[in-house]
Amino acid sequence: MPGLKFASSRGADAPVSLSDAIAQGLAPDGGLYIPTQLPTLHAGAFASLSGLPQIARAALAGFFAGDGLQDALGEIADAALDLPAPTTAVEACSDPLFVLELYHGPTAAFKDFGARFLAESQQRLEASPSARPMTLLVATSGDTGSAVAAAFHGRPWVRVVILYPKGLVSPRQEQQLTCWGGNVLSLRVAGTFDDCQGLVKKAFRDPALSRQFRFSSANSINVGRLLPQMIYYIASSLEIAGRTGLAPSYIIPAGNLGNACAALWARAMGFPLGRIVLAHNINRAVPDFMSSGRWEPRPSIATLASAMDVGNPSNMERIRALYPNWKSMREHLSADSVDDVTIRARMREDFMQYGREWCPHTATAAEVYSRLSAAERRASPWVLVATAHPAKFDEVVEPVIGKPIAVPESLGRLLRLPQRCVDLPPTLDALAAVLA
Ligand SMILES: *Cc1c(COP(=O)(O)O)cnc(C)c1O
Repeated sequence: MPGLKFASSRGADAPVSLSDAIAQGLAPDGGLYIPTQLPTLHAGAFASLSGLPQIARAALAGFFAGDGLQDALGEIADAALDLPAPTTAVEACSDPLFVLELYHGPTAAFKDFGARFLAESQQRLEASPSARPMTLLVATSGDTGSAVAAAFHGRPWVRVVILYPKGLVSPRQEQQLTCWGGNVLSLRVAGTFDDCQGLVKKAFRDPALSRQFRFSSANSINVGRLLPQMIYYIASSLEIAGRTGLAPSYIIPAGNLGNACAALWARAMGFPLGRIVLAHNINRAVPDFMSSGRWEPRPSIATLASAMDVGNPSNMERIRALYPNWKSMREHLSADSVDDVTIRARMREDFMQYGREWCPHTATAAEVYSRLSAAERRASPWVLVATAHPAKFDEVVEPVIGKPIAVPESLGRLLRLPQRCVDLPPTLDALAAVLA
């Protein structure tokens, strides 16, 4: 099979190999890497496969063909995707409703899948392990930083530097950002997420700093994080289609649109996903675009579903590249928005009605489901994508449902570790000083 290439969404440069796309993260022209062609697969050929690693070997073979990482795909999939991602039925619902539970990884959010796959891939791209260690700079609003720390912790070829906004992450998110030690340095920045991201960008652009350190990034625009996210949609859709005879529709809590893009790619490759609906918080750039056709990114607004507080979602470039125009995009995708009051009400309502506990992000998807007509709910099985465990946001969820949430064992282990972090003013000089 000839090697599949990755082109920038802005199209200025020649397409690159998968390895180069993973190593570079962002394309030199500022665009996002997109496969020049999505392999089309026959879902029927997957009937005998089970488990995410096996499905990943088959589904990602076309992306890895001809690349330097081709022979490592099996090992990468085994090491990174050995996590449960069950699609469970909501028994108390009279219509066919399911939950794709993506929170059983080490940091209890779906970002574990992408971060672990990226870490395993980058480890195999490190030509000589004795070379100068890479410095991975990560700005986080909460969940990315801990998933990346968990995935890269203890790997000798990399130093992880996490920048998070002081006072703007949940107490348990902060614990998970600061419990690592070793090759992970956690910086608590006196500023917002935008300040953290601004500092990372400045450091990358600073000639002296980038000579001194070998910087790399692990943010969600890296294709090494998107590819593994397709795998749980493939596994889930095949399972539910097998059980019900109908292609399930998915409602996805969305922020930067990485998870949504993975679902759209999986469907475009021929897997049985029905409708795909995006659930946003009041950061409404995407829902507004879907109704008006005007793309108007804006500053982000803080909400209870903080991991989705994105005013200018980067992966929109990838999604727009999938469709020739706005009209065609509206035929393949829809989006809605949910405010904080409604997030709380939905958490309470579904706990009482179904006995299910949602994190604030998952609650946006549950609310969008509740807005479907009765006919839509019966037309296909629906799957809510549960992006984080509610125990990660206990200070929001527990008062609403009036009951303590059991903490999963892997999360409990991290919560017992001591916290280590360094306070940082939001300036490049301060960052340069701690890096040295
Ligand atoms: C990151 C995150 C999201 C948003 O995912 P995107 O891929 O950025 O759209 C939703 N929910 C949770 C819990 C997250 O951590």
